[in-house]
Amino acid sequence: MEARSPPGFSPGGHSGKPSPEPPGSQLRSPDDSSISVKSALIWNESFRSYRFQQDHPFNPRRLEMAVSLIEALGLIDGVQHRMIAPRTATDEELLRVHSPEYVEAVRRLSRRGAERSEGEQWGLGTEDNPIFVGMHEATARVVGGTMRAAELVVSGEVDRAFAIAGGLHHAHRDRASGFCVYSDLGAAIAWIRETTGARVMYIDYDAHHGDGVQGLFYSDPGVLTLSLHESGRFLFPGTGFIDELGEGEGYGFSLNVPMEPQTEDDSWIGIYREILGEAAAAFRPEIIVLQSGVDAHVLDPLAHLRCTTRLFEESVRITAEVAEEYCGGRMIVTGGGGYAIWRVVPRAWTLVWATMTGQTVKDPIPRSWLDRWEEESPRMLPELLRDPADSFPPVPRRTEIEATNRRTLEALKRTALPLLNNRSRPL
Ligand SMILES: [Zn+2]
Repeated sequence: MEARSPPGFSPGGHSGKPSPEPPGSQLRSPDDSSISVKSALIWNESFRSYRFQQDHPFNPRRLEMAVSLIEALGLIDGVQHRMIAPRTATDEELLRVHSPEYVEAVRRLSRRGAERSEGEQWGLGTEDNPIFVGMHEATARVVGGTMRAAELVVSGEVDRAFAIAGGLHHAHRDRASGFCVYSDLGAAIAWIRETTGARVMYIDYDAHHGDGVQGLFYSDPGVLTLSLHESGRFLFPGTGFIDELGEGEGYGFSLNVPMEPQTEDDSWIGIYREILGEAAAAFRPEIIVLQSGVDAHVLDPLAHLRCTTRLFEESVRITAEVAEEYCGGRMIVTGGGGYAIWRVVPRAWTLVWATMTGQTVKDPIPRSWLDRWEEESPRMLPELLRDPADSFPPVPRRTEIEATNRRTLEALKRTALPLLNNRSRPL
């Protein structure tokens, strides 16, 4: 399918002239100097209701801690950088990516006293996805948060939006998986495609493969999915290999870089920069959606990677540069995985927010924030935002791991980039 030219979109970055708006369009260009808001953090306390069980790792505390740290550091000024409340996604929005049968089943199972035996066929009632009362409403709100982020960016009201509760990248068309019930990412991307026709580049650096989003757009050449993750040979969901390239019209528009366990910052960042740059040059995205799970950190209990906070800061910076070059700066960012909730997630997402909004932030974490959370935390909280360079000992097999990752990248580039180059043009 040919992408239509999205109204209000001005290619060539902020310095380029805004494209003329079509008559009657409600869309605004981000270059309009009358607009004071540049970025939005989508948050209010209603997101706390997306919670499976008391001891489930997908604990909304991590969101509260991150948002309160962002605020404590003065990174929301209410003018350029605002906090904006989510809304609840409509059925129409959910049904762009989910089957009516699945949405109905989730709704039924969400009711108090519901008969739960049918859950398993929908991936619900499992250890990863226990059924909880109000599940439909809570997940529809997460989707609504990411929809809100997409609307703000597409309308030009802001350049960047961070839907911190979003990033449910394992949800499938008719099946819950990996803590994810509905696909907020899929719903937002499908809406962008339908309303603007823009080419969307979906980037996912969560430690786990972004299988749900990949599957939803596997045959759509208007959506390029790029996932870097710990190899599926070692980690859930067991997919995301270099030969998963898409199908039909979408063949060549699905890219995966499975990384070795124990991968550290330098190897990951170098590969990220290279594949992102080359894929973007071929595809020329008009909007970027970034899933920023932070479970590639060395302290994360659910993966086996050895990255530090530098990974998130640099990856967002690199992504923002690509957004500036191709997308007029437009970038929608979501949260995702991240299970070292006390020691890593609040710091990591604060760095993501500061970097994506172009704000500088110093390392010391305010005492008031530490005092507030230390009582509840089972561990001492770090007092610096960034991991110092020598925080963790180097991996003994570093050279071997780097070489294996490099070979994976080269193999992907050999097969995928010619395809992507040939099939991306002319658009
Ligand atoms: Zn993950």
